[in-house]
Amino acid sequence: MKILIAKELGFCFGVKRAVKTVEETAASVNGQVYTLGPIVHNDEVVTQMQSLGVWAKDALDEIDAGTVIIRAHGVPPETLDAARDKGLRVVDGTCPLVIKVQQLARALHDEGYQVVIYGAPEHPEVIGIVGWAGAGAVVVQSLEDVAALPRHKKIGVVSQTTKIPADYQAIVGALMGKCQELRAHNTICNATAQRQAAAIEVAQQVDVMLVIGEAHSSNSRRLAEVCAQVNPRTHRIATADELDSAWFTGAEKVGITAGASTPDSSIEKVIAWPNGVMQSEIAQV
Ligand code: SF4
Repeated sequence: MKILIAKELGFCFGVKRAVKTVEETAASVNGQVYTLGPIVHNDEVVTQMQSLGVWAKDALDEIDAGTVIIRAHGVPPETLDAARDKGLRVVDGTCPLVIKVQQLARALHDEGYQVVIYGAPEHPEVIGIVGWAGAGAVVVQSLEDVAALPRHKKIGVVSQTTKIPADYQAIVGALMGKCQELRAHNTICNATAQRQAAAIEVAQQVDVMLVIGEAHSSNSRRLAEVCAQVNPRTHRIATADELDSAWFTGAEKVGITAGASTPDSSIEKVIAWPNGVMQSEIAQV
């Protein structure tokens, strides 16, 4: 069986930076270190962080003292203030590209635009952006949501960084019918677009496509969606343990990609499964 590996996959710049921040903080500070939420949506990485003495807590209420690290998704400004008010040392691991979106949303608000954020309302990155955007910001996740918006004189829109560019373009197009003036910032991260393009390129060439990433990883789910659009034999798996030999019946080529929260070790375990059967020929395309 031939394996084609997407040329862009796995940890993005922002996740690498956040993981490095945790490692450096754990090595350099006295006292307990926490992350606010798992540093990435990957259980293997969270376990690695625990081995460094860094524990993930879902809320500031669960942290009484020590250092709290903000993950790449970022948080609303109120959360940063609350952590400092509690006397916690705050290390901000927010991805610089997410900070840029937060700043753009705040600037749109300050310039009098109705701020619209395209994204999943429950996603931590979007919750953070909403906080920075100030009162009145709305989140849309579909054309139906846009259709339900009232008209505004000025609308400013940003996107969650991991959204699909074509979908965002459709949202922007629909928003034009809702205002006299529209300012749209392209805030989709290149890392996401590059991973999706590389994944599609591979998915089109193979019999079976594997996307490695956990179900609660938004960008991994999206990678699986775009791959499934061009290759119905696409499977998203969290780890090699979920692989099923029945998927590969009659397959000569298998493609592999991985979400931005998937560590190299998880990718290597999939390539090595099962006992070398998939390793006859490996190429990165
Ligand atoms: S996907 Fe892009 S914006 Fe999100 S953390 Fe990674 S580099 Fe930053």
